[in-house]
Amino acid sequence: TIKLESINKSYKDTKVIENLNLTINKGERLVLLGPSGCGKSTLLRIIAGLEEINSGSIQFEDKEMSHLSAGERNVAMVFQNYALYPHMTVEKNITYALKRNKVPKAEINKRLEKALDMLELQEYRTRLPKDLSGGQRQRVALARAIVKQTEYFLLDEPLSNLDAKLRVSARQSLLHLHEEFKHTFVYVTHDQVEAMALGDRIVVLKKGEIQMLDTPENIYFKPVNVFTAQFIGSPP
Ligand code: ATP
Ligand code: MG
Repeated sequence: TIKLESINKSYKDTKVIENLNLTINKGERLVLLGPSGCGKSTLLRIIAGLEEINSGSIQFEDKEMSHLSAGERNVAMVFQNYALYPHMTVEKNITYALKRNKVPKAEINKRLEKALDMLELQEYRTRLPKDLSGGQRQRVALARAIVKQTEYFLLDEPLSNLDAKLRVSARQSLLHLHEEFKHTFVYVTHDQVEAMALGDRIVVLKKGEIQMLDTPENIYFKPVNVFTAQFIGSPP
């Protein structure tokens, strides 16, 4: 369980996250949904430990974490732009963090093969990122996060560069991944349909403030304010 309490975050004079409280339950798929610029990536980076907060507290399993760096939190993140290492092959991209953390070689190979199989990347393992399509790069980014086997899995619009067909199948893969590993998903998107398909619960954000937090059904059928209803496209 991750507990965020009274989180405030500004860049210079611009408030991006305002007095935000949020509890993320262990094993759930939580979606952060909202328009461009509402603070989704910032919030995810705060959870990952990649962004300092101005005030508030972050607890993982009741332990204060706000002062801990990204490497000290049990999280893996898939970035909005994938952030693959351009000079490393697919295999090396996937295994780099494990090698650095001195995971035994046999274990690294086991996790690598499984991730390559699951994400249908076997035939691309020796390629460089520049020689892959957007969808293939996105799968490498997912594989790189999966092999870390962390409790928390933070995904920032990981499917935004895929065409409609690939996107639907990638959603299915994500649901399978979740079934397999049961880790906690925090999933950022500005796409209502994706939020509905992937979330156990959805957080609707507007300008760094939570508008509504509930199940997809309730968000859709019982929106508590006009912003949520319009953003989701609820029936009138
Ligand atoms: P998108 O859907 O377009 O990715 P987002 O919801 O992820 O948007 P953020 O990237 O979290 O939005 O940005 C929230 C706000 O903070 C934006 O107004 C953005 O311009 C601002 N912002 C983000 N990073 C910085 C920064 N390093 N310095 C100044 N302002 C920033
Ligand atoms: Mg973003």
